[in-house]
Amino acid sequence: MFNVTRTPDAPQSLFRRVSYSEEDVLNELREIFYDKCYLCEIKDPTSINVEHFDAHQGDLDKKFDWDNLYYVCGRCNNIKLAKYNNLLDCTDEGIDVFKSIKHLPPHTPYQSKIIIEPMSADDKTRETAELIDEIFNTDKTINKKITGKYLRKKVFQKYNRFLELVNEHLDEELPQDRRDDALGRLRMLVSKKQEFSAFIRWIVLEDEYLFELLGSSLD
Ligand SMILES: [Zn+2]
Repeated sequence: MFNVTRTPDAPQSLFRRVSYSEEDVLNELREIFYDKCYLCEIKDPTSINVEHFDAHQGDLDKKFDWDNLYYVCGRCNNIKLAKYNNLLDCTDEGIDVFKSIKHLPPHTPYQSKIIIEPMSADDKTRETAELIDEIFNTDKTINKKITGKYLRKKVFQKYNRFLELVNEHLDEELPQDRRDDALGRLRMLVSKKQEFSAFIRWIVLEDEYLFELLGSSLD
């Protein structure tokens, strides 16, 4: 997960209380959530939904409350439903959602399970980790099993790209400018704005050498 800074003013269309997913709302959410699902971190605009963090269940105040609207992909929205309603809030500046849940990338493209671990025992952290674990690892339905496999493969590809750049940076046979270029790209890749950032950032966090090299770029 990644932290998000929400703009204080609600988009105008919400005041009409007709729809919570007009163009202004979507554009604003897209910007503040770095164009990615707040749960799985996929960047896939073809499946984006506006979600109610606290399920509105007919309550109009919750339904049109700007602070309650989150940018989520259709698959995560469908897994979350109203079943998970006590989650860590990525828009709360007092919570480091990234460090709260460990995400470890798969070693191979078709690894059948990704490790997702809560870093403390409180209810919200555990429930959020449980949801993210279900998102990446569920095989409850055939559709979710197939799309989960695709999702893990995408995480692997991002991780693999990261390792390629680490190797390039370390390769003493390469000219210095290429090694420097690789380092510049690594610094970009560890930003919370990137797809699947939690997986890449956890690798950095747990590796002394990489942390020294890239820790200052963990925004
Ligand atoms: Zn998602």
